[in-house]
Amino acid sequence: MTSNTTRTDFAYDVVLIGGGVMSATLGALLKLLQPDWSIGLFGRLDDVALESSNAWNNAGTGHAALCELNYTPERADGTIDISKAVGVNEAFQISRQFWAYLVESGVIPSPREFINPIPHMSFVWGAENGDYLRRRYEALKDHPLFAGMRFSTDPAQLKQWMPLVMEGRTAGTPLAATWIASGTDVNFGALTHLLVHFLTQQPGFDLKLGHEVEDLTRDASGGWHVAVRDLAGGTKLSVGARFVFIGAGGGALPLLQKTGIPESKGIGGFPVSGQFLRCKNPEVAAHHHAKVYGKASVGAPPMSVPHLDTRIIDGKPGLLFGPYAGFSTKFLKKGSLWDLPCSIGMDNIGAMLAVARDNMALTKYLIQQVMQSNQARLTALRDFVPTARAEDWELIVAGQRVQVIKKDAQKGGVLQFGTEVITGANGSVAALLGASPGASTAVPIMLTVIRKCFASELPRWEPKLKEMIPSFGGTLADRPELCAHVHDWTTRALQLEG
Ligand SMILES: Cc1cc2nc3c(=O)[nH]c(=O)nc-3n(C[C@H](O)[C@H](O)[C@H](O)COP(=O)(O)OP(=O)(O)OC[C@H]3O[C@@H](n4cnc5c(N)ncnc54)[C@H](O)[C@@H]3O)c2cc1C
Repeated sequence: MTSNTTRTDFAYDVVLIGGGVMSATLGALLKLLQPDWSIGLFGRLDDVALESSNAWNNAGTGHAALCELNYTPERADGTIDISKAVGVNEAFQISRQFWAYLVESGVIPSPREFINPIPHMSFVWGAENGDYLRRRYEALKDHPLFAGMRFSTDPAQLKQWMPLVMEGRTAGTPLAATWIASGTDVNFGALTHLLVHFLTQQPGFDLKLGHEVEDLTRDASGGWHVAVRDLAGGTKLSVGARFVFIGAGGGALPLLQKTGIPESKGIGGFPVSGQFLRCKNPEVAAHHHAKVYGKASVGAPPMSVPHLDTRIIDGKPGLLFGPYAGFSTKFLKKGSLWDLPCSIGMDNIGAMLAVARDNMALTKYLIQQVMQSNQARLTALRDFVPTARAEDWELIVAGQRVQVIKKDAQKGGVLQFGTEVITGANGSVAALLGASPGASTAVPIMLTVIRKCFASELPRWEPKLKEMIPSFGGTLADRPELCAHVHDWTTRALQLEG
């Protein structure tokens, strides 16, 4: 839609919608590349990082495919396909490089505030799963991005790697695990705060919290009028922007639909909420130092793989287990129950019905998850912590993920579990949908936004991008020397030595 409105309360080169890690990352990248551009960040809540990016609303895993088995599927001939794992790891290396640059250039004073070294482990039981894990290990161990991975079926070694998981376990069932020291725990909420703090120190940056974006209309010059409500006083503002990034997390889909751009048609969203058990007993939490990922149960979406996670939040170790999936029609944790119904229209209902028809295993899984009792949750926890006592754990509600549903010529509609950047044809608007691998890959995802929307600026920005991210424009897997350099540099700069 094109607006005839001429009144503009504020005008920016760039408007970022949403105060999560994605907007913060794009804002930091753009300020470093083009310091003279004005940027306005609008967030509906009273602080940044209160939705999915908040430390307790996600698992904080620096997803590098070191431990997540869904990135290494088995082919029909029994060999292991590692291509997705390599891609996810490459993406994480881009984030690591940018974060290391931010630390070295003084933008982020102390890396330990947001990233800490925590070994990543995969853990399975049963002979068949153990055999899969051994073959996965064989396929990865000599790859430069997975250097240092170890495999064991020896209970004594497993006990050394994960004492809490081995305690109280009876002999008999074959167990297997891999362990790699280069894993990380990332506090994406702290990272968001650090990036936004940097932005607020820069000229030409405005942070507008408690401001909800309600509508977007194209203006005559190819930019946008963004209709914003100041939630404190109810005042409506009209904000002009040459470029808009819709980084509203679960709230991105409704705003994308409001742009009316052809690329927004036929897209739907399916919300899946998450819950974790959080350990209340510091003695138990101190007994575990790893992120231990298991195998997903049948029908479970990939992001529901159970894991026992050491967290480092505000310098203190914590312990999470989950996620348990839930269902709510809200697109944001602090959203409205009307979010899902209001997102359904003539253009996407066909795709959504096709997905409902074709994903019965997922539907069954979600119903079973929503209906499960505290005792069932404890039973699932005891697969990982056999000695777990109910009184040591509390249930917490994590963030909402809105999975993308897209039209499909053959099936009518498909449900996607990845992340998708949707851009308008003239590059004046971009929206981020989906949530996996998530915040870990915020930097490469925002580089995708930059490539798609600022192609004409790229030749000018490329030297700075290469200074910040030495592997920019290529991959590390085929450049072992650069790979080793990047590993050593980012480990040192981010203080990730063991
Ligand atoms: C249970 C769970 C576990 C996860 N685990 C991991 C993990 O281990 N590792 C990982 O890398 N990723 C993980 N993720 C994914 C990760 O949390 C997300 O990918 C990431 O936080 C998304 O950031 P964002 O900035 O897009 O959205 P958010 O952090 O959700 O921020 C969206 C922002 O937009 C604002 N907003 C919404 N609508 C409007 C509006 N109309 N106007 C103004 N502001 C608006 C919100 O208030 C919020 O500030 C997990 C997610 C969940 C839910």
